[in-house]
Amino acid sequence: MVKAVVGANWGDEGKGKITDMMAADADIIVRFQGGANAGHTIVNNYGKFALHTLPSGVFYNHTTSIIGNGVALNIPVLMKEIKSIEEKGVPAPHILVSDRAQIVMPYHILFDQYEEERLGKASFGSTKSGIAPFYSDKYAKVGYQVQELFDDELLKEKVQRTCDQKNVLLEHLYHKPLINPDELLNTLHEYRDMIAPYVCDTSAYLWNALKENKTILLEGQLGTLKDPDHGIYPMVTSSSTLAAYGCVGAGIPAQELKQVVTVCKAYSSAVGAGAFVSEIFGDEADELRRRGGDGGEFGATTGRPRRMGWFDCVASKYGCRMQGTTDVAFTVVDVLGYLDEIPVCVGYEIDGEVTTDFPVTSKLEKAKPVLKTLPGWKCDIRGIKKYEDLPENCRNYIEFIEKEIGFPITMVSNGPGRDDIIYR
Ligand code: GDP
Repeated sequence: MVKAVVGANWGDEGKGKITDMMAADADIIVRFQGGANAGHTIVNNYGKFALHTLPSGVFYNHTTSIIGNGVALNIPVLMKEIKSIEEKGVPAPHILVSDRAQIVMPYHILFDQYEEERLGKASFGSTKSGIAPFYSDKYAKVGYQVQELFDDELLKEKVQRTCDQKNVLLEHLYHKPLINPDELLNTLHEYRDMIAPYVCDTSAYLWNALKENKTILLEGQLGTLKDPDHGIYPMVTSSSTLAAYGCVGAGIPAQELKQVVTVCKAYSSAVGAGAFVSEIFGDEADELRRRGGDGGEFGATTGRPRRMGWFDCVASKYGCRMQGTTDVAFTVVDVLGYLDEIPVCVGYEIDGEVTTDFPVTSKLEKAKPVLKTLPGWKCDIRGIKKYEDLPENCRNYIEFIEKEIGFPITMVSNGPGRDDIIYR
């Protein structure tokens, strides 16, 4: 059986925690898209971890962690991450890397920086991890699959072709140092040696696992609103963030996906530029940012302060619909305990009309939030294990949002730890 854990919004919904928790009952956890541009924060008995490339299931002895073909694989970052978790006493994880995954090259990271510099004020707010140049090359068919590292003839010839092409841009568009083919080839030889122990045909591995009735968890990065097709284009990421793409990016048959857990945070946060209708500013935002998540809402990869906002029912209803949600995991509810009243965005006003349907970007830019204010519960709900034991106003908040988004909230997360979860 295949299950997916994905985000409904802009990312940072708490997917890492939910995946880490659900991994207790899974055999295999697969990353299927994205790269080291976003992180998951996980708190468990080994400590606190910010993972960028490894799946959030690496903390168990019984699981296999897979970097699927859809991932933007940064080999040195992966190595560093493996080392960092082993240093903290986590048993050496069982990791497999798809031979069809493509490699983030050093020049992808440079091009990402150079292009953001060139765009100046019109930049995308990229994390400069090379993700957009990586996926551009993948679809322009000039990327490097992991398996190509093991064919030296091909590699030599391809490196030369790469330099011929990239150096034109470096010289004439960006006015930056050129790539030296010998150095690049050396780097790729190093990458080959680092990754060799992990490489295999992961789709064949997953196919066999399915035949043995194993449980496979697909772990998404970012959320619906960052999907290149269905998100707030062009302020999106460069690979699909949808559960449906999980099957492609892992290499499994689509009909095997039986459960989609969409993670929604009890308020909103976003990183990078782009429309954010329920955004709040000033002291109100600062306080929520400071209290938010586990130690404040700052990017796991960049440390950048996240933009903050109230829960957005319009965006989340759409976000859950596009994921094919079977279950909503509603997270970070504990953080709202300080508020007397909690505003929730229940509609968008666009050109004088109110809608609850998430619009295309040009209309989204004009949208103003229609807010409804719900009473707060004014207490700490961490440690509560049963839904009935939550304060009435807290249950009302959850049930109000469930009704607005139209998908069942079956899990309520009231703290960052593995056990801070209430099943309904
Ligand atoms: P992801 O990218 O979706 O995995 O989200 P992040 O890991 O970037 O952000 C979620 C943050 O919230 C992390 O710091 C988590 O430890 C924390 N977190 C997750 N669930 C909860 C929760 O229910 N309550 C609190 N207080 N923090 C949570």
